[in-house]
Amino acid sequence: RKFGYAIVGLGKYAVNQILPAFAECEYAKVTALVSGDINKARRIGQHYGIDESHLYTYDNFDKIAQDPEVDAVYIILPNSLHADFTERSFRAGKHVLCEKPMAVTVEECQRMIAAGKKAGKKLMIGYRCHFDPVTHKAMDLARTSIGKPQIISTDNGDNTDPTDPTYQWRLTRALSGGGALMDLGIYGINGSRYMLDEDPIEVQATIMPPSDPMFREIDETIVWIMRYRSGAVAHGSASFNVNAMSRFNLQGTEASLRMDPATSYWCNSVSHCTSGDTHTWSTPMFTIPALNQFSAQLDHLAISVANNTPLAATGEEGMQDVRLIQAMYQSANSGSRPVSTDWGDWRKTI
Ligand code: NAD
Repeated sequence: RKFGYAIVGLGKYAVNQILPAFAECEYAKVTALVSGDINKARRIGQHYGIDESHLYTYDNFDKIAQDPEVDAVYIILPNSLHADFTERSFRAGKHVLCEKPMAVTVEECQRMIAAGKKAGKKLMIGYRCHFDPVTHKAMDLARTSIGKPQIISTDNGDNTDPTDPTYQWRLTRALSGGGALMDLGIYGINGSRYMLDEDPIEVQATIMPPSDPMFREIDETIVWIMRYRSGAVAHGSASFNVNAMSRFNLQGTEASLRMDPATSYWCNSVSHCTSGDTHTWSTPMFTIPALNQFSAQLDHLAISVANNTPLAATGEEGMQDVRLIQAMYQSANSGSRPVSTDWGDWRKTI
């Protein structure tokens, strides 16, 4: 029997990326839907062959505990709702896959991790890039073929359409917990950490003044620096008011890696460049076997539960990014002064 997921929140990412990805899963399938709009759940449920008895609202969600078809709950809601639904899912005896950012405060992350431990269930965070073969190629090259890693630069951004509901909660601090850094900059933070296999010991950040009142509650554009014990430095930016960007560059002493796009849904690529030579690997050109990162992520939790193997993206991994984001906001709110993040190199201990 395939591992059954309940999808909580039927917004853009759930409907356009995650639900269609089940078609390419080997071990996982969607078995339940949870939505505030039962008619929407019915419509989508019909499309995916999900019976009315496996449709839930946010209010009666806890009844999912009695649903034997549901092994895990995949939470795809606005950020500030992640913690409560994770705790409710664990109380219902289910495993949890929760979207990034894991939560809006470190305390919420700690509660989520503790709830998973108490329930004896797994908690995975939706870092899909960990399942993109292009990311794996880049990590391999970073470890073997660039000399000593020295400088990372990373930029993530998008334009905001305030008439689209998917952007409206992102502009509301109570629901998002923050702006461009929380939503998009997190890719650069997480990416820098896994590319260097090291956690930063100090961060600094600057939030630019908003160019439009719609950004008054959150960071429209933010730039930051992360310093590492090895001597490497990462600098990055994230913005809600630019043409879409998803770039990642890693400069080593002997070669550089260029990824553009780096963390998109499709067509990511990595180039290895020395002064005389450039090689590029990308999925669309099939220089790497194509693998759907969304399906691979869904299968990963199923495999981890079946074989009790470690997860690629744990709650602790998600919490570390939330801690770094909070440290960056602290820096930005105190005149961009450096903030120590020398909490012990957590990454080296996993
Ligand atoms: P969305 O706005 O398109 O969907 C959110 C869903 O939550 C909607 O169905 C909405 O009705 C529902 N919802 C429930 N309570 C709500 C409330 N109080 N206010 C607003 N909406 C409420 O957003 P999305 O883009 O699908 O993002 C959802 C989550 O997925 C976020 O945490 C986001 O960071 C994450 N996400 C991850 C990726 C990725 O690549 N990993 C991509 C997009 C979004």
